[in-house]
Amino acid sequence: MRQLGILGGMSWESTSSYYRLLNQGVRQRLGGLHSAPLLLHSVDFAQIAALQQQGDWDAAGQVLAEIAQRLEGAGATALLLATNTMHKVAPAIEAAVDIPLLHIGDAVGQALQQRGIKRAALLGTRFTMLEDFYRQRLAERFAIEVLIPLEDQVEEVDRVIFAELCQGRFETASRDYYLKCMAQLRERGAEVAILGCTEIGLLLDGSQATLEMLDSTELHVEMGLDWLLGE
Ligand code: GLU
Repeated sequence: MRQLGILGGMSWESTSSYYRLLNQGVRQRLGGLHSAPLLLHSVDFAQIAALQQQGDWDAAGQVLAEIAQRLEGAGATALLLATNTMHKVAPAIEAAVDIPLLHIGDAVGQALQQRGIKRAALLGTRFTMLEDFYRQRLAERFAIEVLIPLEDQVEEVDRVIFAELCQGRFETASRDYYLKCMAQLRERGAEVAILGCTEIGLLLDGSQATLEMLDSTELHVEMGLDWLLGE
């Protein structure tokens, strides 16, 4: 198997899902005692989140680019950046290394395309929902029209991610709120909901959702597994 580098800790709640799912995936595909050859660098998320708040994406990109170089130096043959939001600085990371960054937006876009989806709801941080780096990639590469919640809902969905999910809190009221947003997005024409934040899958199990959910964490892990196994 090839060795995969993970830029994690953003937050560690979802990085632990990556770790578990990658290992489970290798066990499923190869069986026995096989497990995933991984190099994980897990950051202190408070530092990254502070740079996000300050809008200092250059500094955040530099921090992650340096980590990417260290993972490459340690033998990683490709990288998984285990967060949707920080793909805003994917170009800085890609410029710093010679190995590929397996882009979470492509993992999501390919899954949507395979299902013949044209219009998808997007839930994630305010950066992911409002800015171009994610939506534009889905539009340009995969011809997906992205719908996001209403303005005040964007704020609340974002607040829940940082104040609750990234701190390991999974509240019923927030689960209901997300389900309500998804139901409204369905009425506006969304065919599926992209869980475009790697922690949202920890909050929602899909049983009460009126809209099919595509979890960016799971799709990104599948992409990583294909790389690990050279598929
Ligand atoms: N893990 C989250 C994401 O997928 C949010 C944390 C972050 O800002 O990186 O976007």
